Amino acid sequence: MRRSADVVVIGSGAAGLSAALGLAATRNVLVVSAGSGSTPWAQGGIAAAYGDDDPLDHAHDTEIAGAGFCDPRTVRALVEEGPQRLAELIALGARFDRDSDGSLSRTLEGGHDRHRVVHAGGDASGAEVHRALHQAVQLAGVRTVTGRAVGLIKSGFGQIAGVLVEEDADVSQIDARAVVLATGGIGNAYLASTNPSTVRGDGIALALQAGASLVDMEFVQFHPTALFTGDSTGQLPLVTEAVRGEGAVLRDVAGRRIMTDVHPRADLAPRDIVARAIESTMRRDGCEHVWLDARSIPEDTIRRRFPTVLASCRRIGVDMLSEPIPVAPAEHFLCGGIRTNRDGATDVPGLYAVGEAAGGGVHGANRLASNSLLEGLVFGRRVATALTLDLPAASYGQPSWLTLGEDREPDRIRAILTEHAGIRRDGAGLQTALDELESAGDGPLATVARTVVAAAITREDSRGCHWRSDHPRTDERWNRHLVIRLDEEGRPAVRQLLQSAAT
Ligand SMILES: Cc1cc2nc3c(=O)[nH]c(=O)nc-3n(C[C@H](O)[C@H](O)[C@H](O)COP(=O)(O)OP(=O)(O)OC[C@H]3O[C@@H](n4cnc5c(N)ncnc54)[C@H](O)[C@@H]3O)c2cc1C
Repeated sequence: MRRSADVVVIGSGAAGLSAALGLAATRNVLVVSAGSGSTPWAQGGIAAAYGDDDPLDHAHDTEIAGAGFCDPRTVRALVEEGPQRLAELIALGARFDRDSDGSLSRTLEGGHDRHRVVHAGGDASGAEVHRALHQAVQLAGVRTVTGRAVGLIKSGFGQIAGVLVEEDADVSQIDARAVVLATGGIGNAYLASTNPSTVRGDGIALALQAGASLVDMEFVQFHPTALFTGDSTGQLPLVTEAVRGEGAVLRDVAGRRIMTDVHPRADLAPRDIVARAIESTMRRDGCEHVWLDARSIPEDTIRRRFPTVLASCRRIGVDMLSEPIPVAPAEHFLCGGIRTNRDGATDVPGLYAVGEAAGGGVHGANRLASNSLLEGLVFGRRVATALTLDLPAASYGQPSWLTLGEDREPDRIRAILTEHAGIRRDGAGLQTALDELESAGDGPLATVARTVVAAAITREDSRGCHWRSDHPRTDERWNRHLVIRLDEEGRPAVRQLLQSAAT
């Protein structure tokens, strides 16, 4: 079967659905999705500065969390356009939690200097965002194909001309003038992640193969508090940072506070700092987890604000109302990704990227909590606006098919990345990872793993969520982004870039 569309959006998370919705009235748009990604799992909410809050303060916190490595103009677009996108989401029917006076409830999360995060269903924000967007996209009549994008079609003139989709073991072709990769992060490349299994870096591998650049791939964020279930593989339940926002504190096995002497914001320090402190504590004490003590939070607040966390804890036999919660860091979010400009354009004509798959410079070296649903809404709309104004011309010339390989040993790849490119890294371990990945084939997980390791071994300093124990300080000589493309032999070639990360 051969189909066509003006624009194919790959992925049905916050970013992909926002892009599709923004295009529905003006373009023939089609969404290809392998299932739901991270969006419905998001707990804490959406950061948005409005009313008595100032978008510039939000920008400031974003840049501090990003360790001075964000692109200021991209951040500005995020914080200034964010409240408008949130209002539109509410107009679409998204129901956010409200205080007794009817105003939106806003909570505090790590790295924010004030209560700025709106939430839904207590800690089920992503599910509500996803529900509202999905319904709106359906009402707008956008076509959806359930399947996995396994290749891109490129014209003889180097322009993207369509997508190859695997549906029920058959591969079909969809011709398009533009393709938007909204495929999320790379959680499935690690043994344990908060992301579901659909989030495996396919879009990043597709972009790289098509000749696009990646940027900031070394900045992989580990969430400090995934629930320790005893089985540290696959998707782990999250204990949202908002639990700390409401007063929970981290303790070591002896019950001592972990964060008080580490950072002025203590348990609400930026995520990278909290994750490192937990990792060091676990290493020091030889433990597989630490404790998150939420017993100071009133019971009715926990029941109202954290029903998802309460239920996850119950499933492993922990009553968070009366007992501390066992938690450990887990892979959570890719701060870098496919290099784009502020409208999602990559350096390959006709190829766009948005959301967690994209590296447009919003997050710098470390994402600020609750900035990524917002990123999907804001930049999803921006890519739609760009493609409404200007659709790339139809492409000519003999097309070529660029298909993804297969990962024959996915668990081996995950184990290598987890061991050597986790929270704590060093040159020797990263070299071992590179060597071991040599024989891992050219499937998407192997490709993504190589790019993370190639960037991490090149960056000989520590900043944001990239922590090299052999180069533990931030070194100003490394005030540069790392851009990766495939060389002629199909290996990641790392280039250093002094200017902003965005194209
Ligand atoms: C547990 C958890 C809690 C979080 N909490 C928050 C929070 O409170 N606030 C916040 O801002 N962020 C939060 N995040 C992060 C945020 O949810 C994600 O960064 C964001 O939802 C990513 O949206 P996205 O649209 O880019 O990708 P995703 O929502 O991950 O969607 C990716 C889509 O791409 C599809 N896909 C992937 N590969 C292919 C392929 N080859 N072919 C077809 N389809 C493909 C997937 O099926 C999916 O539909 C959380 C994340 C997790 C996992």
